[in-house]
Amino acid sequence: MAKLYSQLKAKLNTIQVEGKTLYVVEGDTLLDDAQLKIYALAAWQSLWPVQVIHQINLTVIQPRIAAEPKTQALSAAVLLDWQRQMLHPAVARIEAGDTTEKSGSWCRWCIRKNECHAFAVHQGSIASEIFDDGVDPSR
Ligand code: SF4
Repeated sequence: MAKLYSQLKAKLNTIQVEGKTLYVVEGDTLLDDAQLKIYALAAWQSLWPVQVIHQINLTVIQPRIAAEPKTQALSAAVLLDWQRQMLHPAVARIEAGDTTEKSGSWCRWCIRKNECHAFAVHQGSIASEIFDDGVDPSR
């Protein structure tokens, strides 16, 4: 438990419970909202498993993109629905051997960009649209 807490603390600016609200604050290494939701679930279900939580405040601080922090407030029920409908099926796919990666805007801050095949293919398709080499791909 102490190890998980220190791992989460190393990734997050803030992770704490006040009353019935869980606060999770992340900085520049955020990929997308799903990442924050996973952090919130990990913190809640591992560090405060018996704590009654009604609201989760997910805050992103990315001063290079937005001057002000952005906070999304979720009810606990909405977060648990997301876990059941999105996260659990995704984990089940990975456990079944499907490690397909899907590139998109969330790749921007990913530390695996330089080794990711899906990202390389995506970047290649963007480059070929920008730089017309005169070759007709239908021939
Ligand atoms: S770079 Fe690859 S691993 Fe990283 S978020 Fe994009 S698709 Fe996923």
